[in-house]
Amino acid sequence: MKYALVTGGSRGIGRAVCVKLAAQGYHVLVNYVSNETEADNTLALVAKAGGTGEKMRFDVGNAEETLVAIEAWQEAHQGEYIEVLVNNAGIRKDNLMLWMEPEEWGRVLNITLNGFYNVTRPLLKPMCVKKFGRIINMASVSGIMGMPGQCNYSAAKGGIISATKALAKEVGAKGVTVNAIAPGFIQTDMVEGLDEAELKKQIPAKRFGKPEEVAALVAFLASKDAAYITGDVISINGGLYT
Ligand code: NAP
Repeated sequence: MKYALVTGGSRGIGRAVCVKLAAQGYHVLVNYVSNETEADNTLALVAKAGGTGEKMRFDVGNAEETLVAIEAWQEAHQGEYIEVLVNNAGIRKDNLMLWMEPEEWGRVLNITLNGFYNVTRPLLKPMCVKKFGRIINMASVSGIMGMPGQCNYSAAKGGIISATKALAKEVGAKGVTVNAIAPGFIQTDMVEGLDEAELKKQIPAKRFGKPEEVAALVAFLASKDAAYITGDVISINGGLYT
């Protein structure tokens, strides 16, 4: 059995990624933090797509909780390993820097950057030993161009892009690729409350993207066909920023 772990797989982009990878033959580990009902809904969609999966609850920002969950899985699956990791869990807490509270700064950086560290480190060694692995990090256009009101989010996503490049150099010779995806506006819970009609005017494609469109890119990067792409950040934003 081939295993893929998708953090934040209970909703939005992560859910679409779970369904796509399951359809490609992966047994998907659907990580979530609090929304068990939505994680169950993802699993139902995975089954509908003819795939298999299971829930794996942990807060990616909590180092101990994450390690316990991953080590428990590894203990129960001796000789097997998670060959695809999609670091997708993320939040935004927008505010202008002048008013940004320490909690807003800290939580966004913790979940995105420490989350990347907490989940990736324990999964890396088996990938290197088995000489095959795919790590795909969900960044954002905000981490490339910077967005007002998002100093925290832009910093976190910019950091993820840099970590992607550094890690790709560390493990390139081991058959492990590490890439980042930088979506623009994608139709999920995360963009609720944004002025879609106004924002669409700035997007050459004149629409928000669909989670399934991001999932298709994840699936390609996870495939053997993408073996020679590593350390890169691929934009998917309808032409918003090139
Ligand atoms: P979403 O619909 O808000 O879903 C967020 C997911 O992350 C949920 O499954 C949530 O789990 C999970 N999550 C949040 N905090 C977590 C934590 N501490 N530990 C584990 N899981 C956690 O978001 P989305 O739009 O699909 O975004 C997915 C990723 O794409 C994020 O990294 C986001 O920054 C990035 N992105 C999104 C857009 C966009 O326009 N939507 C654009 C660029 C980049 P629960 O269901 O349990 O809460």
